[in-house]
Amino acid sequence: MVHVLKFGGSSVAGATQMSRVLDILETPMKQGKVVLVASAISGATDILLEGQPQKLEALKLRHLEIARRLFTGAERKQVQEGLEALFKELDAAPQEEKVTYGELLSTRILAWKLQADGIKAEWLDSRQLIIKGDKHKTYTNIQKAIQAKDAQVYVAPGFICGTPDGGVSTLGRGGSDYSAALYAAALQADSLQIWTDVPGIMTANPKQVPQARTIPVMSYAAALDMAEHGAKVLYAPTVKPAMEAGIDIEIRNTFAPEGKYTVIGAQPDPTQWIGVSSQGGTLRVTGSQPQAEGLKAAADALKEAGIAAVEMKQDGASLELQVREAVVNQALNALHRTFFEELPVQELNLFIAGNGAVAQALTQMIAQTADSVEKRTGKRLRIVGRSNSKSWGIDAAGHPQLAPQSGDYVDAVIARAPKGSLFIDATNSETLYKRYQELLEAGIGIVSSNRRSFAVPYPEFAAMHAAARENGVPLRYETTVGAALPVLESIALGANSCDEILSIEAVVSCTLNQILGDYRPGGESFAKLLLKAQKAGLTEKDPRLDLGGKDALRKLLILAREAGVKLEAEDVKVEPVVPESLMEGSLEAFYEGLDAYEPQFAEAARAADRQGFRRRFVASLEKISQGYQACIGLRNVPPVHPAYHLSGTENAIIIRSAFHPYPLVIQGPGEGAREAASSILNDILR
Ligand code: ASP
Ligand code: MG
Repeated sequence: MVHVLKFGGSSVAGATQMSRVLDILETPMKQGKVVLVASAISGATDILLEGQPQKLEALKLRHLEIARRLFTGAERKQVQEGLEALFKELDAAPQEEKVTYGELLSTRILAWKLQADGIKAEWLDSRQLIIKGDKHKTYTNIQKAIQAKDAQVYVAPGFICGTPDGGVSTLGRGGSDYSAALYAAALQADSLQIWTDVPGIMTANPKQVPQARTIPVMSYAAALDMAEHGAKVLYAPTVKPAMEAGIDIEIRNTFAPEGKYTVIGAQPDPTQWIGVSSQGGTLRVTGSQPQAEGLKAAADALKEAGIAAVEMKQDGASLELQVREAVVNQALNALHRTFFEELPVQELNLFIAGNGAVAQALTQMIAQTADSVEKRTGKRLRIVGRSNSKSWGIDAAGHPQLAPQSGDYVDAVIARAPKGSLFIDATNSETLYKRYQELLEAGIGIVSSNRRSFAVPYPEFAAMHAAARENGVPLRYETTVGAALPVLESIALGANSCDEILSIEAVVSCTLNQILGDYRPGGESFAKLLLKAQKAGLTEKDPRLDLGGKDALRKLLILAREAGVKLEAEDVKVEPVVPESLMEGSLEAFYEGLDAYEPQFAEAARAADRQGFRRRFVASLEKISQGYQACIGLRNVPPVHPAYHLSGTENAIIIRSAFHPYPLVIQGPGEGAREAASSILNDILR
């Protein structure tokens, strides 16, 4: 086995660092031969290029100090003499060769140290082996050199090389990585390890982007793309020889040898986006495959950060963006957030009951918003179960189909739903609530738009809540009053903060609001408008249920209970819109009776009109000296009343509490499948 390990300037900066390098060599040495390629000690190349005598003198002292600390006795003397000789050679060397002495010095020290430790080490002269521009020669030179001398460790200077005409040159700044790749490729090495001072190639330069993290595996292509566009951790020409020889490149951290690192190899990239780098004002998001949405995501990221891109383009699988240099760091961070800081995704499994308009609107809404919801909240919504009255289906992969089944849907949900799933009651069932407790006890939360479930006798209502609390799962039903209007939440907030509720007035019957709003004495009769509404599907099948205030009663019970008032249906005084006598018998008889009642209805409307009032169907709860009083019926409301201006399917809920002189008024669209679906979605995500 042959391992090639390259250590950069900061990894050999001093005696301590060099000792660390020798420690790291122990593992590969146990497995076979090692080629140790090293840079000059940090800063040396710059000093040699500058040629300033004082700095050169300091550089010499640094090397002598390393020798003093690594060696003792006679060996120390020998090494220091060897270094003095090299510095003399450096003095005499032609200007263009001086820069090569950094690597000559550092690698000589390492080779001497290995020998002093009793390891069979040979120093290789890269100037004679690596011939610039001649790959074939280079490879055969290296192979011959290794065959010629048997050793455990071969120590070779990085960066420096020879020229075809026998001269001396370099492979370019940062070129030691490339030297190591040439040694590795020539020897068909088992590994090429580039040891540096950061934990591998990261998603961004950590000095610019604190959130940057190590990329564990990446393709040669992605590594090359990043290296060519500003990622300094790897010298770009390194990739090609390794790739041609099929050798993985490991980028590892000398200062945390057991820590995270990067492996670059032939395998495809596991992710779409690899990393972001910059050169001047040019930013590059390296990608693994061309993706059309990339540019838009990048544009949005910059826009959100208030940065204007001068230019943006797709370049192969990657994105290139031009910004003003002053905002480069900001832009890098913004891009990094969008492409590399995905919130950890939490899967949310949904089991929907009911397949009516609300359930269908919800399904559609989830399909449309799942991606943006996931981006915003880190929650991935997945509909895993669905049902109607006759059939149901459950599919863990998220494509449940309705089909007749022998078993019961809720039983199946309880048996199969992972803890933390949500059961969505989008039915109008009178009995489904009886299963809520079992669901909650199985660790399944409930979101419901079915107000029948909460208008049940108070002890049952309280038991449901207790089960939710005890099992630490949600039980939410904001949709049951005013659809998407945040009604229950507002009441609960007030109740929780001991803001004692004095009264609640709810104008929540959409059917009646609409009809009363359209009604003009002398115009279309009340019966006609009601029939129209019935035909438009705005009423219950038997519209008398609306007139009887049953629906408003359910809503009032829910509102009151949310405020902490243990209201029961029997406690509510309901005055139907039309005389009790009409409320029984056939529907035909009802409409006939309603026609006969029209003059009285018109007169009441005229009377209200004369006083400047409007008639509204109001459900109210009011604190009286002993407890609360609840009633439902037609009321005349003055122009200052919030319900005066309601139209269409608008709802208004007016809450008065002890602490505030002004009421809290919640007003807006209170009905519709879409509104209900969006409210359910809010409850799901809360
Ligand atoms: N010592 C050279 C430089 O600083 C080569 C290297 O470190 O890779 O550019
Ligand atoms: Mg370097």
